[in-house]
Amino acid sequence: MSEKLKSLKDLFEHELKDLYSAETQLTAALPLMVEKANDSKLKKALEDHLRVTEKQKERLEEICEMLEVDPKGEKCKAMEGLIKEAKDMLSSDATPEVLDAGMIASAQRVEHYEIAGYGTLVTFAKRLGHDEVADMLEETLKEEKDADAKLTKIAEGSVNKKAEKSSSK
Ligand code: ZN
Ligand code: FE
Ligand code: FE
Ligand code: FE
Repeated sequence: MSEKLKSLKDLFEHELKDLYSAETQLTAALPLMVEKANDSKLKKALEDHLRVTEKQKERLEEICEMLEVDPKGEKCKAMEGLIKEAKDMLSSDATPEVLDAGMIASAQRVEHYEIAGYGTLVTFAKRLGHDEVADMLEETLKEEKDADAKLTKIAEGSVNKKAEKSSSK
């Protein structure tokens, strides 16, 4: 990061670009997770969230257009790392059931990172008087929280139990 951050507006724009990079990286990485998921509910949840993520990326493009900001130019290194860990998990020598539980662990780290990022962006947007933008970001924030809750439900509802039993097979 070499750009000058001299105002909350600068920081807001920087964070917008960071999340744009994060969502862009995710749209590229999620299809592999969908493919590798074994549990049908998990597969469906990841597939749904891939579609939601594509929309979130477009929403950020819309926001950047409204604010006359170029969405490109940042690389979110945290998302890069989270995706790298998720891919390491996918290539590990795990039973399908344990892999599902591990994928949820990876995916929830991603959702929590996004929740933190969008939470900050909503607060900044309100502070800066961008009410419509704040509403749009709030919508994404809600989607990320919903995705996180859904993953918890799938983990606690079936996947963790199947992972626990898979070693005795
Ligand atoms: Zn930067
Ligand atoms: Fe997202
Ligand atoms: Fe980041
Ligand atoms: Fe997400």
